[in-house]
Formats: sequence, C-alpha cells, structure tokens
Amino acid sequence: MGRKYFHAYISYLNRNEKKNPLLVSRRKEILDDMKYHIDIAKSNWGVPGDPNHHKQAFDEYMAEYFTPLLKQCRAIQTMCTCAHEHTQEFGGFHFSGGEVWDDIYDYCIDCGAVNYGLGWTVDVLHASTLLQNTAVSSQGKEAGEIWA
Ligand SMILES: [Zn+2]
Repeated sequence: MGRKYFHAYISYLNRNEKKNPLLVSRRKEILDDMKYHIDIAKSNWGVPGDPNHHKQAFDEYMAEYFTPLLKQCRAIQTMCTCAHEHTQEFGGFHFSGGEVWDDIYDYCIDCGAVNYGLGWTVDVLHASTLLQNTAVSSQGKEAGEIWA
C-alpha cells in the first residue's frame, strides 16, 4: 500500500469513527482499564527485564485481567472503524395491554455491532447468540467469541 493510499485509508477509518461515538467511548474505557491492570502488574511483580520481576505471577495476572480486555479492544477497534455496510434487521413489533412497542434493531454482519436507533454499540446479550445463527465474517465471529 503506497503512502497516498495509506493516508486515504486512515482518513476513511477516521470518518467511520466519527459515525461511531458510542463505540469510540467504549474503546477508551477498555483502554483505561488495560492501563490500570498494567500498572498493577508492574508495581507488584516488576516488568520483564527487572531483577525483581516475578514472571509467573505477572503472566498469570495479565492472562486473567489484561488479555480478555485486549481481545475486547481488538473487536471494538474493528467496530469503531466499520462503515456497517452489511446489516440485518432483527426484532419486531409487539402488542400488549393496548400498547405497541418494538425491539427492532440492526445488526452489522461485518463487525458484530448493533444499533437500537441511538447509534452503533456493543450488545453483550445478543452478540454471541446471533452470531451462531448467522453467516458472519471472521471479524464478527471473533466479537461473538469474546462476549460468549
Ligand atoms: Zn459494522
């Protein structure tokens, strides 16, 4: 990819991020959590290379608290930069007690994000079940595995 195309690609991704404010703010929360856990691991067991580095405890802590966040962060990153061009509608209209309501939402086949009408976001409850029933891209599958 040449420099010109690379810049065009980055500006394409940035444009998509502007359309995904909920996902961008969720990514920031996860990044903050990741920094928090790195600081804890560093202060307790040192970093690799330090004379006081306790490798096993450091690795165990990171595997339990940091790695799952890293996976979420990667999936959210995909969602943040997605144009959500291939979507599927789920839900329907419901009638009860004289009231009409709907739980219609869009699901992005490309990244696994959902939109209930307020913007594209992460849906913890629906992501994994939907992905099992829907032909999805490898990126969407990854997102489903994370919140399964
Ligand atoms: Zn998408």
